[in-house]
Amino acid sequence: MTEYKPGDIEPKWQARWREAKLHKTVYDPAKPKYYALDMFPYPSGSGLHVGHCEGYTATDIITRWKRMQGYNVLHPMGWDAFGLPAENYAIKTGIHPRITTEKSIANFRRQIDSVGFCYDWDREVNTTDPLYYKWTQWIFIRLFKKGLAYEGVMPINWCPSCKTGLANEEVKAGLCDRCGTQVERKALRQWLLRITHYADRLLEDLKDLDWPQSTMLMQKNWIGRSQGAEVVFKVSGGPSDGAELPVFTTRPDTLYGATHMVLSPEHALVDALTTPEQKPAVQAYQAAARRKSDLERTELAKEKTGVFTGGYAVNPVNGNRTPVWIADYVLSTYGTGAIMAVPAHDERDFEFATVYGIPIVEVVRPVGADTSLPAAAYVGEGVNVNSGDLNGLPTAAAKEKVTAHLEARGLGRSAVSYRLRDWLFSRQRYWGEPIPLVHCPRCGTLAVPEDQLPVRLPEVDKFEPSGTGESPLAAIESWVVTACPHCGGPARRETNTMPQWAGSCWYYLRYLDAHNDKEPWAKAEERRWMNIDLYVGGAEHGVLHLLYARFWHKVLFDLGLVSTREPFKKLRHQGTVLARTFADASQKYHEFSEVEFRGEHAHLKSTGEKLKSEVEKMAKSKLNGINPDDVIRQYGADTLRLYEMFMGDFESPKPWDPRAIEGCHRFLRRVFRLVDEFDQAKAPQNDPHLSLRHRTIKQVHADLDRMQFNTAIARLMEFLNELSSRGAAAEDLRVLVLLLAPFAPHFCDEAWEMLGNKGFVLNQTWPAYDEALTVDTTVTVVVQVNGKLRGEFSAAAGATQDQLKEAALSVEKVLPHLAGKTVRKVIVIPGKLVNIVAG
Ligand SMILES: [Zn+2]
Ligand SMILES: [Zn+2]
Repeated sequence: MTEYKPGDIEPKWQARWREAKLHKTVYDPAKPKYYALDMFPYPSGSGLHVGHCEGYTATDIITRWKRMQGYNVLHPMGWDAFGLPAENYAIKTGIHPRITTEKSIANFRRQIDSVGFCYDWDREVNTTDPLYYKWTQWIFIRLFKKGLAYEGVMPINWCPSCKTGLANEEVKAGLCDRCGTQVERKALRQWLLRITHYADRLLEDLKDLDWPQSTMLMQKNWIGRSQGAEVVFKVSGGPSDGAELPVFTTRPDTLYGATHMVLSPEHALVDALTTPEQKPAVQAYQAAARRKSDLERTELAKEKTGVFTGGYAVNPVNGNRTPVWIADYVLSTYGTGAIMAVPAHDERDFEFATVYGIPIVEVVRPVGADTSLPAAAYVGEGVNVNSGDLNGLPTAAAKEKVTAHLEARGLGRSAVSYRLRDWLFSRQRYWGEPIPLVHCPRCGTLAVPEDQLPVRLPEVDKFEPSGTGESPLAAIESWVVTACPHCGGPARRETNTMPQWAGSCWYYLRYLDAHNDKEPWAKAEERRWMNIDLYVGGAEHGVLHLLYARFWHKVLFDLGLVSTREPFKKLRHQGTVLARTFADASQKYHEFSEVEFRGEHAHLKSTGEKLKSEVEKMAKSKLNGINPDDVIRQYGADTLRLYEMFMGDFESPKPWDPRAIEGCHRFLRRVFRLVDEFDQAKAPQNDPHLSLRHRTIKQVHADLDRMQFNTAIARLMEFLNELSSRGAAAEDLRVLVLLLAPFAPHFCDEAWEMLGNKGFVLNQTWPAYDEALTVDTTVTVVVQVNGKLRGEFSAAAGATQDQLKEAALSVEKVLPHLAGKTVRKVIVIPGKLVNIVAG
């Protein structure tokens, strides 16, 4: 009897796979293609964790399953390696981020290979490789030349600790997402990408995607399209008399109820509007607003505050002079930085008007319902009142009429507004792609000529950003000073670097042609492999990475560089793996801690202390505390893979349960024993599991199609139980090994060989099933001897005449009636009866 030793089996098969180049993708026009993509990891110093393994195992299973079905599969992997952790580590230790990144990548690669993932490493990409970022820069220049990249002085989120600008997405509850420091506002020269030009298409094309509904909704909300009107108020009196103050509103029908206006404290007209008496209050308010983040000013603010400027503007529908206020909940970067306030029909305006004693005028009355006024704003639709020529009109008609009216007078127009803002595309950091531009005092800002790409990161000794907000690159005069590509005169390089998201905007295209040094990818390769048939990664990338990559892809589509409108046809997110060990250990610690306090039992105290340190360790790193290396060392990679998929529904959150790993391991050991002990001579000859086998193939196939890996494994476990209790036929074991192979590939190659086969399971054909054989399980067949009922037995519904005859002749109750007689003839009515004629 052989023992199942994953520690021997797994390295052996990994070496054989490598030697045979089993995972290399070679394009074959005769086969249908399948492109399975994982969100490539940031190679952190802490290594691969079980959350990574979950997603990678899923795509690996699908890849292997598709290959066995005859698909030409592309399954690549690479490294998203620019970013702050390596840079912050460099600032602390002086070790170059390239060195720590290389070390982390080597560790990730070792771990990934130890799990047995079938990546085609010939296509590996690394975003920090100059031969890769050369093309990231090349694409940026395409955007720049298309007018999609522009420079602006922007009030940005500024982390005083990281000394860098942050995108809104990197600010969580007013704090820096990287380090937790309170974020401030700072005006800096920035590069922005006009993602807003693509807002409609990014929204519209969502409908063609097979994505989780929640992710599509997140993108939809992030883009935040609303239909309404632009309405022009004009300043009345003061030095800016007659100046236009355009506002956007989704409810132009409420214009008669606009009793005041609110500008952002940074609005360009605030100074001109402010009267001398109001100046001190306005200036104090402006200074306070500068210290707040956007989030603090909007979502987090419990009370709406504001200050009257002393100035007025004219409401274009009724000529009323409306007071102009400033309030920090209006952001200069949203819309026009000004709003018309309709307290009767907007909750925020109602609150503001109530606090400051501003008139509240009802202009929309609900039909057949009670209005919430005067206790609260009525925000629904209805019929206009107190609205001049709009009186009596339902909301939709009133919107249309007032918009047309304003348009005719040049005081407004129908308009669309978006929540989406242009993408802040520069960082004041070292460890990123240099933005390939040159500033010439005579010629302006120019792209670096293509034959000079890549613009390499210069070597530096110090990685700290300068306190002024510029990147460390700005301090390297020899790098910054260059010749203007147009006039040849002295010019200066752009010193901002790209954000971490840049490299991941197009990596899936580089995999298609990773060694091409003439172009980022050959068009022929792009047409062969795109679109991506399955993209798997964390839901935390639901907005940013996925939106940015879609944006770049659409630009590339417009430039004729890609043939599909969208990159990721089908997307799935793995559910978060929660640390049950953490929860359990923490619970146990609390049980022990009481004993410890009383100081009674020394041994319990030490256990409590041990638990306490474990809890603290886990709390710090949560799931990072579960290292796949440890699981592999104890149980093997095949058990890890099986458990990762068995712990729960793939897309739902689930706890990590070390006890259940043992169960998966036991399953593999049982299959191993069954294969090891298989003896053709002793195997049942009547194919007792025919129907169950076909049903199992059908179900596992359907489960994989829906990515319901846990139920697929459960079906294989049920199949094993049947085989263990009633004996397995050779075909049963063959099918079991083939079906299990995508989940436990090393194990199954070993079992395949033990069953006397040659070659890798990955090159075998995925088992087929016969629908007719899956329908019923077993039928009861009665046995007659010379026309008299003598016994019965169960058989598979599709059992053959020979199988039924053989089974009938061995039924225990029948045997005495045949004793001493010769069987002359056996009549079989399939599925019903066997009559034995004996004499
Ligand atoms: Zn920070
Ligand atoms: Zn020049």
